[in-house]
Amino acid sequence: MARIERQRLDELDAKYRGTCFEEVCNGFTEEKALTEATRCLNCKTAPCMTGCPVSVHIPEFIAQIKQKNYEEAFKIIKGTNSLPAVCGRVCPQERQCESKCVRAKMEGAVAIGSLERFVADYALKNGIKEKATGEKKGKKVAVIGSGPAGLSCAGSLAKEGVDVTVYEAFHETGGVLLYGIPQFRLPKELVKSEIEGLKDLGVNFVTNVIIGKTIFLDELLSEYDAVFVGTGAGLPMFMNIPGENLNGVYSANEYLTRVNLMGAWKDGSITPLIKGKNIVVVGAGNVAMDAARTALRMKAEKVSVVYRRSREEMPARGEEIRHAEEEGIDFKLLNNPVEILGENGWVKGIKCVKMELGEMDASGRRRPVEIPNSEYEIPCDVVIMSLGTSPNPLLKNSCSELEVSKRGTIVVDENTMMTNIENLYAGGDAVTGAATVITAMGAGRRAAETILKKFN
Ligand code: FAD
Ligand code: SF4
Repeated sequence: MARIERQRLDELDAKYRGTCFEEVCNGFTEEKALTEATRCLNCKTAPCMTGCPVSVHIPEFIAQIKQKNYEEAFKIIKGTNSLPAVCGRVCPQERQCESKCVRAKMEGAVAIGSLERFVADYALKNGIKEKATGEKKGKKVAVIGSGPAGLSCAGSLAKEGVDVTVYEAFHETGGVLLYGIPQFRLPKELVKSEIEGLKDLGVNFVTNVIIGKTIFLDELLSEYDAVFVGTGAGLPMFMNIPGENLNGVYSANEYLTRVNLMGAWKDGSITPLIKGKNIVVVGAGNVAMDAARTALRMKAEKVSVVYRRSREEMPARGEEIRHAEEEGIDFKLLNNPVEILGENGWVKGIKCVKMELGEMDASGRRRPVEIPNSEYEIPCDVVIMSLGTSPNPLLKNSCSELEVSKRGTIVVDENTMMTNIENLYAGGDAVTGAATVITAMGAGRRAAETILKKFN
């Protein structure tokens, strides 16, 4: 096996990028893509594919890159993945396809995600579009929610000649891709282009409609041949500590929505946002990293991440942690907030205790234990809580027959994505709780396959 080093994406200088919302990583040049593609061994068993939740035909599309047949590579990826420009940027490939690549244990896995991004960006730049392949079926499906689960379900159905209408509560489509993941990781123009591609396939989008309030689920079930629920998990969790109601405390979802969807990052924006000079983010997942890095770009003087475990247990992707560190985010590890301190109704600090790691807990991680008499205060004017999310109970509250788990997630058959209600399917974070873009897309696609089988 020839030894060729894995090609790396170029990144903007850390000091510069912390001052603006420009995309941090540049895509491969054609030269880099061709070099990287030669590293793929075209393994017969394609172990990489077993790590991909939507089973992209990885060796096949890489083989097309080697031949410079980028359009064909695009068609192969699109066969199973409706949003490759998104997935090429935000999928945790190091835990999925790339972790299974035979090169992973040698000089580094093939950079599958970056190659996928190269092909998807090529297609967008050159106006290459997917075409509907199926005959019109005379069937119609409603999709609730325009995040990756809903988009993937809608795209898979529309390609096969089904009339699809997507209902979205917000005024813009894309779900977390638009309002959660920041511009500097996923440019919004890209998300919009991917959605335009679905419109070209005939998908109809209706925004500003909350199913369960504006229209009810049973109305959709009587009007459509099937309904897919992809409403995500947008309800933020809090710690229930004193001070969480003070002005200046945000959930990460609200903070990111104000900046990303409502445009608070743009000059002249009228979206209210307490900018803050000294910002504390509580939590250490991907969402916390996004919130901290966004706060820095909103011109905070100091941004600290407070987390009760150590760096090893941080749930965020390694790359996101590295980027945050390089940009100057301060990590206060083994610290746990116990109170948010206020003055005249506004945040003025956060009281923390120091922690140490004890025995393993049920999650397989060492349990953080409070060190007695270790209380101290961090002065700050904004606190962003990033402790996870759960599904919004609105839909369930409007349809008492719908079976949900104790956690509030919709119960489905994992193979068919059918709920306990006839013709009602669900997938994505609404079913799994907060997960990933690609798992949501995989679920949307599986639901579409079940619906199509029923229609054929
Ligand atoms: P969502 O994307 O949440 O979309 C649900 C949509 O349904 C929303 O648009 C919502 O407005 C709409 N909706 C809700 N209720 C209703 C209703 N009653 N009527 C009509 N519409 C409704 N994953 C990764 O793989 N990589 C990452 O880097 C990554 N980073 C993330 C960063 C942030 C800040 C966040 C919050 C999440 C991140 N994730 C990431 C997770 C990933 O984005 C989610 O797992 C994924 O978006 C879930 O898709 P979904 O379609 O199930 O739900
Ligand atoms: Fe190529 Fe790695 Fe997949 Fe083998 S496992 S086909 S080398 S990407």
